[in-house]
Amino acid sequence: MATERTLSIIKPDATRRNLTGKINAKFEEAGLRIVAQKRIRLSVDQAQQFYAVHKERPFFGELTEFMASGPVVVQVLEGEGAVQKNRQVMGATNPKDAAPGTIRAEFAESVGENSVHGSDAPETAREEIAFFFSGLEIVG
Ligand code: GDP
Repeated sequence: MATERTLSIIKPDATRRNLTGKINAKFEEAGLRIVAQKRIRLSVDQAQQFYAVHKERPFFGELTEFMASGPVVVQVLEGEGAVQKNRQVMGATNPKDAAPGTIRAEFAESVGENSVHGSDAPETAREEIAFFFSGLEIVG
């Protein structure tokens, strides 16, 4: 499998509980390398732009308000099959369905406040990485 990059976000519920290091350890233990990372605070407008694909979903307002409610850590993860590998490390969207040992099983508070975001496909990953990072900020 090819080396890939994927976009990860440590969400406000996790930064609030000081879980950045524990979550990063999960990525590194799985063989994912953090090749870019920054802590930022999104505006509601920026969160709406990032999640535009979900704008018709009933939870869009709740999701975008939540993503702007505190700091997030945006990061680029690199590794063999990084997109799928990260999805495995994250676990299912709803922590009740997440496999034991995954980030969401261990740390997520609810289906909405579920600690991490990860790109769902290589093409989405390219778009999402470009939303937050310039090439100069990514050091593999
Ligand atoms: P993901 O790819 O596993 O993050 O899941 P989705 O792409 O389906 O949803 C994007 C994000 O929207 C999720 O990570 C949740 O934060 C949020 N979300 C999804 N379903 C719900 C829901 O039923 N209620 C709320 N409040 N948020 C949701």
